[in-house]
Amino acid sequence: MEPAASTIRNAHSMTVPDVAAALGVDPARGLDDQEAELRLRQFGANALTTKKRLSDVRLLLRQFASPVMLLLAGATALSLAFGEYQQAVAIAAVLFINSAIGYFTERRAVRSLEALRRLGKRSARVRRSGHVQQIAAEKLVPGDMVLLDAGDVVAADMRCASSATLRIDESALTGESVPVGKGIEPNLTLAGLHERSAVLFKGTHIVSGGGEGIVTGTGLATELGRITQLVDEASGGGSPLERQLSFLSRQLIWITLVLAAAISAAGLSAGRPVFLMVETAIALAVAAIPEGLPIVATLTLARGMLRMARHNALVENLAAVETLGSTTVIMTDKTGTLTENRMEVEQILTPSGDFSIDHGLASIVKEGAIVDPSADPELMQALLIGVLCSNAEYDRHAYSGTGDPMEIALLRAGSFAGLDRKQQIATFPEVAEHPFDTATRRMATIHRTGDHHFAAVKGAPEEVLAAADRIGIKMEPLDEAERTTWLRRGEELAARGLRVLAVAVHPRAIKDQPVPDGLVFYGLVAFRDPPRGDIPETIAALRRAGIRVVMATGDHPSTALGISQAIGLTEPGALVMTGAELSRLLNASAAERQEIVRRQIFARVSPEEKLQLINAFQREGEVVAMTGDGVNDAPALSKADIGVAMGQRGTDVAREAADMVLLDDAFSTIVHAVREGRVIFANIRRFSAYLLSCNLAEVLVVGIAVFTGLPLALLPLQILFLNFVTDVFPAFALAAGEGEGDVLDRPPRQPNEAILTKAQWLSVAVYGAAISGATLLALISSIHILGLAAEQATTVSFVTIALAQLWHTFNMRESGTGLWYNSVIQNRFVWYATALCLVLLLAGINVPLLSEMLEIASIGMNGWALALGCSLLPLIAGQLWLASGTRRPAIGSHLKVKLNEQP
Ligand code: ADP
Ligand code: MG
Repeated sequence: MEPAASTIRNAHSMTVPDVAAALGVDPARGLDDQEAELRLRQFGANALTTKKRLSDVRLLLRQFASPVMLLLAGATALSLAFGEYQQAVAIAAVLFINSAIGYFTERRAVRSLEALRRLGKRSARVRRSGHVQQIAAEKLVPGDMVLLDAGDVVAADMRCASSATLRIDESALTGESVPVGKGIEPNLTLAGLHERSAVLFKGTHIVSGGGEGIVTGTGLATELGRITQLVDEASGGGSPLERQLSFLSRQLIWITLVLAAAISAAGLSAGRPVFLMVETAIALAVAAIPEGLPIVATLTLARGMLRMARHNALVENLAAVETLGSTTVIMTDKTGTLTENRMEVEQILTPSGDFSIDHGLASIVKEGAIVDPSADPELMQALLIGVLCSNAEYDRHAYSGTGDPMEIALLRAGSFAGLDRKQQIATFPEVAEHPFDTATRRMATIHRTGDHHFAAVKGAPEEVLAAADRIGIKMEPLDEAERTTWLRRGEELAARGLRVLAVAVHPRAIKDQPVPDGLVFYGLVAFRDPPRGDIPETIAALRRAGIRVVMATGDHPSTALGISQAIGLTEPGALVMTGAELSRLLNASAAERQEIVRRQIFARVSPEEKLQLINAFQREGEVVAMTGDGVNDAPALSKADIGVAMGQRGTDVAREAADMVLLDDAFSTIVHAVREGRVIFANIRRFSAYLLSCNLAEVLVVGIAVFTGLPLALLPLQILFLNFVTDVFPAFALAAGEGEGDVLDRPPRQPNEAILTKAQWLSVAVYGAAISGATLLALISSIHILGLAAEQATTVSFVTIALAQLWHTFNMRESGTGLWYNSVIQNRFVWYATALCLVLLLAGINVPLLSEMLEIASIGMNGWALALGCSLLPLIAGQLWLASGTRRPAIGSHLKVKLNEQP
């Protein structure tokens, strides 16, 4: 077979067999695995360039483009101008070290984000060597036969090879938001992109229907590839938190500049040397700005994303990490999220009697005895509808299949009666499909038999029975009383937590038209879908965390209630609100609308109603996370504060709209993510408070000493040393903390709460004052009690503040936590950082070159004792203050709406 010369560009005007021939593929078999391998090498990966990596050089250069760096550069220049070469070298070194720290942390953050993006790769279903297989979308090659389904994003340019009412949203490419139909008929050669109904374009998405396509172009050789300007959308703007932080930094820069100017003016008027004052001002400015803050914050968020990914929660952007921590309501669907989505047919009720399925014996049972299904035409008919009206495939030997689990269950039940989908489709060829629609809650396929067409229909019992007017093989009329009886029987099944489906036929359907009313009803099928084992535990954990779980399902109210009781979501007797009732209340008065947010279970809701439900909760000030998997869920997923899509079951479209993807589809994963979100926020708050109180202390010490005519408390280079040695490492350590053990036993924080609230600012001020007070105390005592000289006194205050800042790390535990048992003491990084800083401090004092630069004088045993003693004061004061503090408010206190509250 001749390998395809290249991708073909006029596939839209060629017939399907011509395209297949040109690409050297047999549509029924697909490419051979080896051939696909070859072509992958020939054509390359199906990707629009791997997102341009932020180069190391660019990252490094970026470090020098900050106001802080400019300040440092200014200080270097000034030192040079004043002939202080040693100082110039030292400041330049600090400048270099700071950029190195910035560079390495940011590089780690950027690289882990890139790694995460790679995790989120798409997959495609292809037919190769005669088998359907799931491959990474990047591995698609020209000639591949791709199976298309509603919700998929089209992974490459394709020629449509078969279409069951395929409808595509091409807005990504053409801007046209109305979905367009696709079919196999060739178009005119000159047809414009939007007129080519015979081809599908990479990047567009399938709204409904299904079909197959032959890949005609991949990667850059697609329409999308041609028009995309390969823009590098890397890190634009940053998360709200990052913006809040850089705003804080900018503000601090201005405040400090003013302060520094004032201090040096005061110093000058007191007759201090000009050079020293200018330099002090600059060093002060640098000291007061927490330059490490944005870097540590980004790194913390990125680390959090990685940790979440390790727990199978893939967060799409940094902002979501913060929002997660403040989630107050989780709105979840039922099937697959709360339940296993491993369905089994349990019962089949037909006009000729009630049957159940014995899965162990692979047979159908009636009144306790195995029956021969083929002896019961009505049972056979019900099973046949389930086999025909389907998109799934089933392998009876493997006992498993691919597709919608409910449809697989129907195929399995059919196989117990000897029905095989392939055979039945051969007998009754499928000519059209009306895919399942979450709004109409039914699905139909049209089949040819002899000279006419019939429709096989399955769907929610209310919908199907409402459209049915006859029943059973004999097509007897179905009167209102009997319809009610069947509905009631369906309710009884649903009340047992079973999912119920009605099956029916329309004997005279028209190929491309909606199935009209006048169905013949053949029975009810009930499925068991067991709740996931870890759900009750998860629900309880979320309740402790002050997060409300709300179920919104398309399923029957009774089924919803049955499941919700089984998992401990609601008490017996809880009320269910239906979509219809919801719509009515949404238009009612504000008081009546309150009723909505009091309920916990919503059944028979359409995707639009879910959207409005989110709105209703958000209006009450709740932060809503929502799980969803279908195409129609996309609007609600983007409307929610945190859209959560399922990695395995979810559609591409849902995943695209979501902020977070659960790789394992497990609801419990959300709990890990929420925990992580809360810990991250708490850590950022912690190290921000730490850094700011240290910086404030330095400013106060220098400022007060200058104003009161004391000897210089800290020399410029000493301040720089403090800032880059004793501040940075503890801050990193605090950022890496695991959080308090009970973060999940508290209410969520208030949405939009600032990083530092008034209370936190107060503690920054108090700690800043305490550290500076202790330092000044050491300074004064060293002169008046120990009788040290001015340079020695300066060394004493330097050592004091350096140690005090180190000990201060341990003040960063939360008030009310145990003295010994808290997340700071248990954070091994804090201990590493403390040890490291002590070593570095001792090196700064004892290593000749360093100690000269820092102008360290010998202070003797007494000096050391004084410094050590004073440095402990802020720690002791802090611990006393913390011990007197109370724990955060009790669980759920700020939630406006209480759980299970009934009117
Ligand atoms: P859920 O919230 O449980 O995922 P869905 O919106 O998927 O609910 O389904 C709602 C109802 O639509 C189901 O109770 C069932 O009656 C019907 N239904 C679901 N899937 C199909 C399908 N593939 N074909 C026909 N009917 C379906
Ligand atoms: Mg569903």
